[in-house]
Amino acid sequence: MSNRYSRKDFFKKTGSLIAGASLVAGFPNIIIPRKKDKLGVALVGLGSYASGLLAPGLQMTQHCELKGIVTGSPHKIPRWQERYGIADGNVYNYQNMHEVANNDEIDVIYIVLPTGLHAKYAIIGAEAGKHVWCEKPMTKTVDDCQALINAANKSKVQLTIGYRMQHEPNTQTIIKYGKEKTYGAVKEVKAGAGYSGGHGPGNWRASAELGGGALYDMGVYAINGARYATNMEPIAVRGKQWSEREEMYSEVDEFTEFELRFPEGVTAFGETSFGKSTNYLDVDAEEGWYKLRPMQSYSGVRGETSDGIKLPADPNHQQARQMDNDALGIKENSKPLVPGEDGLRDIRIVEAIMESSKRGGEWIDL
Ligand code: NAD
Repeated sequence: MSNRYSRKDFFKKTGSLIAGASLVAGFPNIIIPRKKDKLGVALVGLGSYASGLLAPGLQMTQHCELKGIVTGSPHKIPRWQERYGIADGNVYNYQNMHEVANNDEIDVIYIVLPTGLHAKYAIIGAEAGKHVWCEKPMTKTVDDCQALINAANKSKVQLTIGYRMQHEPNTQTIIKYGKEKTYGAVKEVKAGAGYSGGHGPGNWRASAELGGGALYDMGVYAINGARYATNMEPIAVRGKQWSEREEMYSEVDEFTEFELRFPEGVTAFGETSFGKSTNYLDVDAEEGWYKLRPMQSYSGVRGETSDGIKLPADPNHQQARQMDNDALGIKENSKPLVPGEDGLRDIRIVEAIMESSKRGGEWIDL
C-alpha cells in the first residue's frame, strides 16, 4: 500500500485542500494547500477502552486529536463534549454516521465497538472516505476482514488495526532480534495472554454473535505475538477450546490453547483465558533466549535475555504512541505498521483454531 496515495489523494482525504488554503499575495487565484498539523479522529463506541485509554491518549498526541464521537448512548454526549470540547457538528450516532463524509474536521474514524460490529461500521467509515483505525480483533471472520480491506482500498484510505504492542519499544526490540537472528534463528515461541475475571449476563464478551470469547478478545495477542516473534507465517494449527463456567460462557470459549507449526520446524504454543491470568512471550532461539513479561499490559512491558540484557519498561502512553505513529503514516502517506492484512492473518488462524477444536484437535493446514 506504500505509495498508492498521491499527494492529491492525501489532501482530498484529509479535507485540507480548501480548509487549510491560503492565498498568495498578489495572486488571488493561487491556492496553496496547507497540511493539517493534527488529523481529526472520531471515536466510534464510547466504552471502557475508548474512554479510559484512547480519549486520554488523544490529549497527548502530536499528529492527531479527538474531534468527534459516534455513539448510540445520548446520555454520554454532554460529558464527552464538555470534557473534550467536541463541537455539536462532530457528534454522530450509528444511523447518521455515514454523514461524516461531509465533515472535513474528521479524517480518521476509530472503531472501538464489540468485535462483531467492527466490520459494519468500519466499512461505513471507509465508504465515507475516512481513514479507518479498527480495534483488535479486526472482525469476526476472514470474509469480513477482506470486505473491509476491499472497502478501504476502493476509497483509497488507510486501514490499520489497533495492535498496540507492535508500537511498543521492547516488543519492537524482540521483533528485531528475530529478524536479525541476534540469538540465532528462532526455534520456539510460547505466548500467553489472558485474565482471570468474569462477564455478567448480557456482556458482549460472552456473546458469540458479538464476537466474544477469550480467543477473539485476548488470544489474538498470543497469535500476533507468535507471528511477530518468528517473523513467519504459520502453515498449520491445532487448538482446543472449552469453558469451565458454562453458566457464564455457554456460547463462547473461556479457555483456548493452540499450537502453530511454522516453516523450518519452528513451533509456537499459545494460551488464552477469561479464567486464568497469563501475560508472557518466551522465545527460544538457537543461541539463546529472550522474553517479555508482561507482554501485553498497557504499561510496564519488560524484557530479559539469556545474556543478561534487561529491557526496562517504557514510560510513554502506549495508545498515544500507536495513534501518533498511525497518524504520521497517513500524513506521510507511508505503509501503516499494522495494516488490515495483518489483522486478517490472525483471524484466519482464529477460525482454524475454532475448526480444529470442533474436530477434536486435528491439525488444520493454513
Ligand atoms: P466495552 O463493552 O467497554 O465498550 C463497547 C462499546 O460499544 C460501549 O460503549 C457500548 O455502548 C457500545 N455498543 C454499541 N453497540 C453495542 C452492542 N450491540 N452491544 C454492546 N455494546 C455496544 O468494550 P471495550 O473494552 O471498550 O472494547 C471495545 C473494543 O476495543 C473491542 O474490539 C476490544 O477488543 C477492543 N479493546 C482493545 C484493547 C487494546 O488494548 N487494544 C483493550 C480493550 C478493548
